[in-house]
Parts: sequence; C-alpha cells; structure tokens
Amino acid sequence: MTSIAQTTELAPRIQNALAACGVTNDAYGEDRATRSPLTGEPLVSLRNTTDEEVEAAIAAAHSAFLSWREVPAPVRGNVVKRWGELLTEHKEDLAAIVQAEAGKITSEALGEVQEMIDICDFAVGQSRMLYGKTMPSERPGHRLMETWHPLGVVGVISAFNFPVAVYSWNTALALIAGDTVVWKPSGTTMLSALATNALLARAVAESGAPAEIHQLIVTDRGGAQRLIEDERVALVSATGSVRMGREIAPKVAERFGRTILELGGNNGAIITPSADLDLALRGIVFAAVGTAGQRCTSMRRLIVHESIVEELIGKLVAAYSSLNIGLPLDENNLVGPLINEASYDAMQRALAQAREESGTVLTGGERVLAETYPEAYYVEPAIVRMPEQSRVVHDETFAPILYVMTYTDFDEAIALHNAVPQGLSSAVFTQDQAEAERFLSASGSDCGIANVNIGTSGAEIGGAFGGEKETGGGRESGSDSWKAYMRQATNTVNYSGQLPLAQGVEFL
Ligand code: NAD
Repeated sequence: MTSIAQTTELAPRIQNALAACGVTNDAYGEDRATRSPLTGEPLVSLRNTTDEEVEAAIAAAHSAFLSWREVPAPVRGNVVKRWGELLTEHKEDLAAIVQAEAGKITSEALGEVQEMIDICDFAVGQSRMLYGKTMPSERPGHRLMETWHPLGVVGVISAFNFPVAVYSWNTALALIAGDTVVWKPSGTTMLSALATNALLARAVAESGAPAEIHQLIVTDRGGAQRLIEDERVALVSATGSVRMGREIAPKVAERFGRTILELGGNNGAIITPSADLDLALRGIVFAAVGTAGQRCTSMRRLIVHESIVEELIGKLVAAYSSLNIGLPLDENNLVGPLINEASYDAMQRALAQAREESGTVLTGGERVLAETYPEAYYVEPAIVRMPEQSRVVHDETFAPILYVMTYTDFDEAIALHNAVPQGLSSAVFTQDQAEAERFLSASGSDCGIANVNIGTSGAEIGGAFGGEKETGGGRESGSDSWKAYMRQATNTVNYSGQLPLAQGVEFL
C-alpha cells in the first residue's frame, strides 16, 4: 500500500477505495458519521437501515433460503470462490478501509483481508465435503446414517477489532452450507462492511445466485434486536464483549434459536525456566502489542518462573522502548491508535486499579501524539508487575496492558493461568516436553486455544477458533466448525421387509 504523507488525503482515499470495491452513493447519507481512529478525522457519512428495512432484509433472506438450500453445495461454493477472487483483486482497497477504520498497521490490515481469502478457499473445498457418517445398524436389513442440511438465516453480529475477517469465517461457511446471511457490523467499522458487502454482492450476481442470500444492515444495537428476536433467524453468531453475549444469548435461547458466541478473552502465557527467551520475547511482544492490544487473543497476562522474571522483564522493557508508535500508514510504526477515547479511559482506569492493588507500572501507559492528533488516542503499551493475587488481572481491558506475575512450580502456574473467567487463548514457552504436554492435557490450559512456543494471537484459519467459559464456547473457521451452520438428521432405512425394533423391544 502506498503510505499517506498528509492525513488530509485520508477521506478522499477511502472514498476511492469504497468506490473501487463497488460501494454506490445510495449507501451514503446524513444518519451516521464515521471517523478514523488514525487522526480522529471524519470519513464518510452513512444512511442507517430503517427498522422496516431490517424487517425486509430478514424476510428476503428467509425467502432466499428456501431456494438456496436446494442448490447443490459445490455449486453454492462458486459464490464463495468468486468472492475470494474479488477479495484478492481488491485486497489493498479493503485493507486501506480496514486500516482507516480500525487503526491497524498496514501488514495487519492486509493480513485481515488475507484471512478472508483463506477462509473462502477453505469453504470452497468444504462445499464438497459436507460429510455425514454411516454407522452399522444393530438390525438386519437396515441402514443407519446421518445427513447434514442447511439451517436457515444466520444473523452475524461482528466486533470492531476484526471488522471483516471474523464475519467472513461465518459467512463463507454459512453460504456453502446453504444458509443465507444478515450481517450487523460494528457501528465503528461500517465502511469496511459496506466494501465487503459490495464485493460479495458482485460475486453473488456473477455466480447467478439469488441476490438476497446476503443482506447488510447498517444499524446500532437497538436495530439489531430484530435479528436476535426473530424466529426466522435460526442462528445468531455474535462476536464481541462478554457483556454483549450476556445480553443477547438468553434472548436467542428463549426462542430456542442457536448461537455461536465469540466473546472476550484474557489470554495468558506461562514462561518456564527452560524457555528460549529470545523466541518467547518475540512471541510475547507481537501478541501483547499487536493491534495495540485490541485483539480478542491479545496477550494480557504473563506468568513467569521466578528464576527468570528479572531477565525477561529487562528484555521486554528494552523491546517496548524500541517500538515505534504512531500513524499506522507509516510502515515504520508498529503500534497504532486505540479505537476511541472510551478505550483510552478504560486503559487508564485499569492502570489506576493495578496501582491500587500494589501493581508497579514498569513501562508505558502514557498517551502520546496528543498534540498532533488531539482526536486520536495513541498510547505507549504498558507492562505492569502484579502480585499473584489481584482483581484487575481478571478483567479484559481492551488495550495494550501486559500484567506480569511469577510462579515457583508448574502446577501453581497452571492454576494461576486458569483462574480468570475467560478462556480464549493461551500459551506456554518451554523446552521441557513434559511441561508442554502437561499444558495441553485435560488438566492443563482450560482455553479453546492452547499453544506451545508461540504467542496467543495470530491463529490460522484451518483450526477451529473459539474459547471456553465467559468466551462463550463457540467455534468458527476451520476444522469441523461448518457443522454449526447446518442441521443434522439421523436416518434409518429399513429394506428388510420386517419391522424389528431397536434394543430388542417386542411390540405387536
Ligand atoms: P461490543 O460487545 O461492544 O460489540 C460487538 C458487536 O455487538 C457490535 O456490532 C455491537 O453493536 C453489538 N452489540 C453490542 N451489544 C449488543 C446488544 N445488546 N444487542 C445487539 N448487538 C449488540 O464489542 P467491541 O468493542 O466491538 O469488540 C471488542 C470485544 O470483542 C472484546 O471483548 C473482544 O475480546 C471481543 N472479540 C472477541 C472475538 C472472539 O473471537 N472471541 C473476536 C473479536 C473480538
């Protein structure tokens, strides 16, 4: 991507990128201002989807589902294949919009779009592999098998920090599964959503699929209630905070709808005495500081053996001091802005609480570049030494704060690691195979993602992604996550001419 010297070029550049992706003027209006966290400057104003239009979108998606489910799955895959091609063609355009709205550095913004391309590839292959099992029947002359069928309308609610990648995990799989999608993106990243929607609409049109299989609604959380409450929406896949999950999950459950919940994380790493500290250092810094600590998988807690803690802290503080913080358009900068003032305030509150709980801020925490960008919130990533027992380390603060604690034996480290309410991602850095295996075992890490000698963030799409406990239990992306977008039927076929009953039951 070309970098921008003058930030006044930002809005026109984003408008050009939107146009290149196929966003038309009817999306624009006066209802909703958008602004860039890079500089705080306004980008483009949008038109909100009205309540009547939300209702119409659900109705249209439901009606399209009734025909889309009859299309053979490998043919459905053609839409996703074309979408992946268009995403590849417009990778830089979409990444520029993601960068301007979510504040990512260039390589992470490009990586986000690459993740979309990767899941499209995966989903196209999966469209030929919606396998059901055949099991031996206990009755003679019977066949017992399972089949997988499209589920219905999938409502996707997405978070600001991965404005398009996590949504695309859902949508690529939902579409090949024979579902239709209504998408409510984060209010903070609607432009990324408009561009993505325009590319998908083009893929749908060029593939000859019904236009209504994908709907975008530009609305706040109030407007999204319809998605949550409407019985035609078979599955609500929601990514965001634990608070959001608590609000929506009971409402969907009340009507026996399904949910996939991808909620907050509070990801930790254990650093053992045998760890390769230079490798650990790189893994920790990327996971703790990447995306300015605003990944669901960001590393927030370090649990370090007491014998190496001083050495590791020395290396970390030195590494943090060499990080360039600033406009992510400049490729020398590795730390971009927080998304908004509320995030900055939350970071300051957490640091104050950490100090109250006998924590020591070893580096960082200060706002920088405030004079250059008074409306943007750049911060120095913080490292805070904490006592083993404290309250603040149990919270996910969506900002670059890394709490460092110590342990003496490995069981204690695992207990400390698992003592938080969230369960998304985790890591151990060790060269001791027994410790590594212990961490991955049933009594090891209690997270949905557990890594050895690699940080907590930066998952590949091929594995299932998601977490336990307050993270919500959902699984998306690779492995057999596709099953969540389908309904399973168990079929017994009797070709025996008799009617033997299971379990040897006699009747009539
Ligand atoms: P958020 O909870 O504020 O919002 C997420 C989405 O939910 C937005 O689209 C928002 O408008 C919507 N929303 C919020 N409350 C709602 C309600 N009551 N009804 C309907 N919709 C509602 O989260 P955020 O600030 O956008 O994102 C950061 C959070 O997301 C962090 O907690 C992060 O860990 C989490 N996250 C989790 C994953 C994961 O895969 N586990 C991935 C990305 C982000």
